[in-house]
Amino acid sequence: MTLSVRFHATGGPDVLTVEDLPLADPGPGEVRVRHTAIGVNYIDTYHRSGLYPVPLPGCPGMEAAGVVEAVGPDVTRVAVGQRVAYGTGPTGAYAAARIVPEAILLPLPEGIADEQAAAMMLRGMTVQYLIRRTFPVAPGMTVLLHAAAGGLGLIACQWLRHLGVTIIGTVGSEKKREIALAHGCTHVVIPSQEDLVARVRDLTDGKGVPVVYDGVGAALFEASLDCLRPRGMMVTFGNASGPVPPFPPTLLTQKGSLFLTRPSLNHYTAERDELEATAADLFEVVQKGVVSITIGQRFPLAEAAAAHRALESRATVGSTILLP
Ligand code: NDP
Repeated sequence: MTLSVRFHATGGPDVLTVEDLPLADPGPGEVRVRHTAIGVNYIDTYHRSGLYPVPLPGCPGMEAAGVVEAVGPDVTRVAVGQRVAYGTGPTGAYAAARIVPEAILLPLPEGIADEQAAAMMLRGMTVQYLIRRTFPVAPGMTVLLHAAAGGLGLIACQWLRHLGVTIIGTVGSEKKREIALAHGCTHVVIPSQEDLVARVRDLTDGKGVPVVYDGVGAALFEASLDCLRPRGMMVTFGNASGPVPPFPPTLLTQKGSLFLTRPSLNHYTAERDELEATAADLFEVVQKGVVSITIGQRFPLAEAAAAHRALESRATVGSTILLP
C-alpha cells in the first residue's frame, strides 16, 4: 500500500483527497520508485482544476526524486537501489511510491540532493529549453521574464545572468522584488503598481525587448506584446493568472510583426536523447553552482491541498516540494 493524493472530481484544492492505495509490481519497461521528495508545479493545479483534462480519478504531480525499489522485465537504464528523478511523463507523482515508465527516469548524479532534484527537474529543464532552444539568448541581450521570483523564475534568473543577459523581471510584491534582484535580475517591475510597458520602454531606450518569457498568461499577455521590439518573440508558456484568450493573428502584425510560440516541455524532451541532453545541461549548471535551487516551501505529502493554496495565492517563493 502507498499513501497517495488523488482527486475524483476537478475543482479547487479541496478536491484533493489522501488515500492508501495498493501498489503493483512493475511491468515490462516499468520501474517502482520510492519517492523521497515530490515537486509541486503550477501544472499540477491545471490538472486538478480541469484546465488540462486528465482521466479521473487523477493523481497530480509530474516531478519527483527517489530510489528504485523494483524494476520490471526489459529495464536496462536503472537498477534497484539507484537514486533517480523525473520531471516529465504521466501524472501521478503525489504518492509515497509509484510505477513509472523507465523512459522518463534520469539517474541522479553526485552533488544533486533528492530535495533539489524534486524542486528543479521540471522547472529547470523548462528553463533550459526556453532560453537555449525556444528563443536562444545571447550575451548582451535584455529580456523580460515574468514571475521572476517563482520556482521556474529563480532558476531562469540565475541561468540567464550566467549567459550574460540583462533581465527585467516582474513580481507581485516588494518582498519578491528583493529576491528576484538577489538572484540575477537587473531591474524588477511590479505590474500591479507600475506601468510595465513604460518601464520596459524606458529601460531599453524605447526599443523594447527581443523576447518575453511569460508563465503568467492572461493578466500580462497584451502588455507583454507591447514590451517587444519589432519582430520580437512572445514565449507564452503558462497560465498562472488564467489562459490567454483567443485573438486574431493580425494583432501580431499591429504590434510589430511579432512571433508567438506556446511551447511545452514534453515536445522538447520527447526523444530520449533530448531528455538526457536537457537534464545534463541542467545538472551541469547546478553542480557548478551557477544555479542554486531555492526551496521556499516544504509540506507533508498529506498536506498537498495547502501547498496548492499557497501556490495559487501567490504566497510562494522559489520551488515548493512535498515530503512523503
Ligand atoms: P511559480 O512558482 O512561478 O508560481 C506562479 C507565479 O505566477 C506566482 O508565484 C506569481 O508570482 C505569478 N502570478 C502572476 N499572476 C498570478 C495570478 N493571478 N495567480 C497566481 N500566480 C500569479 O510556478 P512554477 O514555477 O511552477 O511555474 C511557472 C509557470 O511556468 C507556470 O505558469 C507554469 O504553468 C509554467 N510552466 C510551463 C511549462 C511548459 O513547458 N510550458 C513547464 C513548467 C512550468 P508573483 O506574485 O511574483 O507575480
